[in-house]
Amino acid sequence: MITPQTIQQITSRIDIIDVVGEFVKLKKRGTNYLGLCPFHNEKTPSFTVSPAKEIYKCFGCGKSGNTITFLMESEKYSYVEALRWLANRYNVEIEETEVSDAQRQQQLATDSLYIVNNFAQQFFTRQLFETEEGQAFALTYLQEERGFNTAIIEKFQLGYNPSAKDSFAKAALQNQFNAELLLKTGLVTNRNEALQDNYRNRIIFPIHNNTGKIIGFGARVIGKTPERAPKYINTPENELYVKSRILYGAYFARQTIDKLDECLLVEGYTDVISLHQAGIENVVASGGTSLTTEQLRLVKKYTNNLTIIYDGDAAGVKAALRGLDMALEESLNVKLVLIPDKEDPDSYVKKIGAAAFREFIAGNKKDFVLFQLEVLLREAGNDVNKKNEAVNQVAETLSRINKAEDFTKQQEYIRQCAQLLRIDESGLITLVNKYKRERIAKEEKKLPFEAVEPSAIPAVLVQDNIDLIINGDDLQERDVLRVLMEYGLQPWDEQRTMAQYIFDELEGYAFENPSLEKLYNIYEIQYQQGLEPTAKTLLYHEDAEIRDLVVGITLFPFELSLRWNEKSDKKNIGVVDSHEDVFKSIHYFKLRKLKHMFEQNQRDMEESKSLEEQMQLIKVHKELKMMQEALTKQFGTVIFK
Ligand SMILES: [Zn+2]
Repeated sequence: MITPQTIQQITSRIDIIDVVGEFVKLKKRGTNYLGLCPFHNEKTPSFTVSPAKEIYKCFGCGKSGNTITFLMESEKYSYVEALRWLANRYNVEIEETEVSDAQRQQQLATDSLYIVNNFAQQFFTRQLFETEEGQAFALTYLQEERGFNTAIIEKFQLGYNPSAKDSFAKAALQNQFNAELLLKTGLVTNRNEALQDNYRNRIIFPIHNNTGKIIGFGARVIGKTPERAPKYINTPENELYVKSRILYGAYFARQTIDKLDECLLVEGYTDVISLHQAGIENVVASGGTSLTTEQLRLVKKYTNNLTIIYDGDAAGVKAALRGLDMALEESLNVKLVLIPDKEDPDSYVKKIGAAAFREFIAGNKKDFVLFQLEVLLREAGNDVNKKNEAVNQVAETLSRINKAEDFTKQQEYIRQCAQLLRIDESGLITLVNKYKRERIAKEEKKLPFEAVEPSAIPAVLVQDNIDLIINGDDLQERDVLRVLMEYGLQPWDEQRTMAQYIFDELEGYAFENPSLEKLYNIYEIQYQQGLEPTAKTLLYHEDAEIRDLVVGITLFPFELSLRWNEKSDKKNIGVVDSHEDVFKSIHYFKLRKLKHMFEQNQRDMEESKSLEEQMQLIKVHKELKMMQEALTKQFGTVIFK
């Protein structure tokens, strides 16, 4: 376990804008920052980051949290991994307390994968540049046949896995990497009870994540593909390598994509490297498979304009088109460019040069929907059935355009497609709507969140408050926690802090919501231990439930206080006196509890069977009445209803 002191050191240095900004393009809006939410697809930014509160909140999908939860959600880190990432970023040395073996294994799983990947990359690069075999076979191939210069080979950290059966396995074992870990990387395999290299005689392409760390490898045969051997082998799925979320080259391309507001997508690793070498740096590769929604969202972090460069034959292009409907749902503008016959981006840029290549792309981009229709129609020829299929497919595709802001785009598509198909526009509209209804019906069953329009920010806020109100005493209980975390360490009077005052006042009262009670207790314990808890320190508590609560509570104070001020004194809106704030919060809490006691007393009286019992209950009722009077008198307002 990482020591509390270390955690404290790390969390005190966190700059949420700096960290979140690494993954999301943020723009300043007033005191907050705004960007496109990385957790749901949206076109209008509703992802808000507050540097003052050190939290983020998306008003589209409702996700919220702090820097640590952000890393956990977006990078799939564990709590500890997120802390380590931050420690590394802010140069904090990690002190650890003793942990069990199981915990340590868990904790180190991804760390060790990074370490072994890093070791492997260095090993393969050395083999490429420093051994006779590497130079003779691999380096010559890369330089002479692929035309890569040394600088670009080094930039992409390419390497070579020698032909001997276990040169990497041996080196790794000598360096104390354990067999299980090595097997997980896919770099070695178990054969005849010994580890052997899996990528023998292949060029190694390290695959980097967004922050430049190596998460896996692609291994390519040198020269012509031998029979019964795949051209490329990739790392099997593990904690780091998740195929559907990888865009090769994204780490090297992201700044240029951002700058040019366009992402070029090619198929192969070598295409990416060639184009980079030619100075075309806004390019990534999908790795051959059809595009996934996750990959499209990665693109969308940087730009809305995706240009796909194909070099395949008609059949290949048709297959690739199938996955692109999703891009419409993500509101991406997808264009296609076909590289002329028998060339690929790699060979083509070498043939005509970077400037002409850029011109060719710009001049030959075709809209993907129309392109798809053209391919389908060409294939259908005079076959009526096939033409019918084409009509249906294009209607299905167009039905994916479902955002209000894309409506004009859809209308324009329908017009153009109807023309190409030589059918009636209104007929196509009907068909598109049919597909849309079918999909909505299907999706409504599974996705509660996606129905929320990002533009409906106020509605979401209102909903949050309604949720608070209908959830019993949550409103009052949360507000006590809010004032506790906000003012707890300030003085109430000469003897007591606000926190001590609150503890004294609420002695004997119980929370209804167990999670809120847990947070109250954690605060009290930390306070008694002299740890000086605040919303900021509790924000990084190891218990995820507590973190979420703190975020929720610190995010919605304004709505609550406004509501209350409206009831008591309209002139006071916006003016916050900490004593008054604490006082009101405590009293609303008590009144609420008292109200419950009245209700309970009432129910008990209705059910009571003996006179003695009734007398007792009347006595309780009187006491409650007195308490209520005292409270309301103190408070100056009657809010009992
Ligand atoms: Zn969101």
